[in-house]
Order: sequence, then C-alpha cells, then structure tokens
Amino acid sequence: MKIVTVVGARPQFIKAAAGSRQLRKEHQEVLVHTGQHFDDNMSEVFFREMGIPKPDYNLGVSGGSHAQMTAKMLTGMEEILKTENPKALLVYGDTNSTLAAALAAVKLHIPVIHVEAGNRLGTLDSPEEVNRIITDHIAVLNFCATEDALEKLKGEGLGNRSYCVGNIMYDSFLHFADLPWENCNILDFDGTRIQAPREYYYMTCHRQENTYSDQPLTEILLAMNSLDAPTIYAVHPRNQERARRICEKETFQNIILAQPVGYSDSVHLTKNAKKIVTDSGGLQCEAFYAGVQCVFVLDYVVWPETMVGNRNQLAKADHKDILKKLSRTQSIDENYQPFGDGHSAEKICQIIRKWERKEL
Ligand code: UDP
Repeated sequence: MKIVTVVGARPQFIKAAAGSRQLRKEHQEVLVHTGQHFDDNMSEVFFREMGIPKPDYNLGVSGGSHAQMTAKMLTGMEEILKTENPKALLVYGDTNSTLAAALAAVKLHIPVIHVEAGNRLGTLDSPEEVNRIITDHIAVLNFCATEDALEKLKGEGLGNRSYCVGNIMYDSFLHFADLPWENCNILDFDGTRIQAPREYYYMTCHRQENTYSDQPLTEILLAMNSLDAPTIYAVHPRNQERARRICEKETFQNIILAQPVGYSDSVHLTKNAKKIVTDSGGLQCEAFYAGVQCVFVLDYVVWPETMVGNRNQLAKADHKDILKKLSRTQSIDENYQPFGDGHSAEKICQIIRKWERKEL
C-alpha cells in the first residue's frame, strides 16, 4: 500500500533510517521532509550516511513560532496528502512536524500511524508533550518503545490500538555501532577537523530550558570544564554563538566546541566516552545502550527505564549537582533490556500488515 512518511528533525531521520528500510520491502513509501532541520550537519548528512531515501517532497518550513511553523506544515501537508492520497500516514516522535502531519491526515480521513507513542512527562509546559498526546489520540496505530509507554496509553483508553515494539532508535544504534569508525568527521566552528582525545566526555545541550540565557549553559560548562578529561560538546547550530561566547568569557579551556556530528560519529563518540552529559532524549538512550553512564540535565524524567543503577541521573543546571551526579558509579544489570531487541522496524511492519488485512 502507499504510505506517506513525514520527517523533519534530526531524531526523526535516525528513526526513519530503520523504518524506511523495512517499510520499503513491502510498501510504496512517499517521504516528506518538512524542512524543520535544514543545515547539512542537522539533515543532509543523515540522509547520505544512513542511506535514507531522498525525500519526494520538502516543505521548506523552518523557524517562526510553534503556531507559525505548525500552520505552514499543516497546509503544506494537506496539499501533499490530497495529491498522493495514501492509505496511511506514518509519523515519528513528537515534533511540530509530527503534529502537523497527523492533523492534516486525520482531517482528510487518512489513518495515522504513530511510532514512539505513549511517552509522557506529565507536563503540558513541554511542547513535545502536547504533540505526543494529540498524535497518540488521533492515531489508528500507536507503536510504543517501552512497556511503560504502552501502559500510559492503556491508561488513556488507547490500549486496543497500541503495541510495544521496542525503540526504533535502538535498531539504528545497533546497526551503526557495529560498523567500523573510519571516517570520523568532527569539525570545530571554523570547519577545522578535530582529533578526538583518547579520553573525553561527550556532551550535547540544546533544549530551551538550558539555552534560553547564558546562565544555565554557563553552569553546565563550568562543571564540564573542571573534569579530568576534555569535553567534546557537539553544539546545535542555534546555540553556537552563545557557547563560543561563554567559553571565551569564562576561559573554559577543557571544552572542545564542535559542530553537530553525523550519526556514526555520534554513536562512536558515545561508545568511547568516559561519561555523557546531555539534555537529549535520544542521546541518553544511546548512552544506556552503550553502557556509558549519563547525566541528564533537565527537571523531568524523559525515559524512566534508563534511571536505574545510576546509569542515567537527573541533574539541575547547577555545576555542583552535575559534578555530584558525575562522581557516582553506575551498576549495570545485563539482563535488563527495556528497549526491545533492535528489531522494532520489523515488528512495526508485521503489525501494519495485519492492520491492512483487518486481522488485528
Ligand atoms: N546526534 C548526532 N549528532 C550530534 C548530536 C546528536 O547525530 O551532533 C544524534 C544522537 O546520537 C541522537 C540524536 O541525534 O541519536 C538526538 O537528537 P536530538 O538531540 O536533536 O533530539 P532529541 O533526542 O532531544 O529529541
């Protein structure tokens, strides 16, 4: 059957890499890029490196307020869906691209399939939470990454159309973690190649809560600067100016500022890091898969499954709290695998097949 898949932001490309590969074995997929992330190192590099098919459409929508972005995507998606008239729409995660595409489809009576459904933070202050809740409730099929997410959906009355299939990002992680790390391409802001030190901490930090002013990011970098090895900080494009300014002002010499890296580099930087500090939902899971301890700088838990044995700990954007959490040791129970077996895309396709045949 014809399925329109919509992606727009970095973590969605990583999920689509595994999803599209499997989906195209039995369906005709039309891929739409909303344009939410557009820099080469936030978008193109993932398509090139991960073998994601070239998008059939690019809406070119980025920037503006949440409402402006969502509205432009909504009207853009309506046109595409009318032209393509697919049997289903598939969306990943919780961005404005997810919400806009799902809304456009449901209004045209096109069934929505939501991958990475059911995650809940318990606060509508998070724009992603709003996107997730709405998308889950208008989808005909919800695919959850964990049992916990499935339980949340059961609690919201969506149990009869929700399935736990494991985390599709784990599929991509396993695939890339097994490949040799040959073409490492870490660049500083001026485009000069950086050699990763033998020992380092790996950091990403881009959420509004930590980057809306200099204060929280300065606290985080203050902690990282005082560690026993340098920190490689892969900086989201919108925070580069702030990160550079803080590091110069505070003369932080133990921080290596880098442009965003490709997926293979991110996976291997994760695997080989001493520890990880991040506010990224995806990276904290990858740290968990790799068995590398993580400190998650935010006020709320995003992946409760990772919060065991000090493997992932919440910290405030406060240098003392971050250092305290980093000083702890983790314990790993090898039998604990809450994110599935790395075959999530296959399970999703099996269930879609049954749904198409009305066998569910
Ligand atoms: N990532 C990457 N390059 C980087 C930083 C992160 O490929 O420079 C990957 C990371 O490995 C993870 C994903 O991007 O798979 C996380 O995306 P992001 O932090 O943008 O979104 P979130 O996880 O917060 O939704």
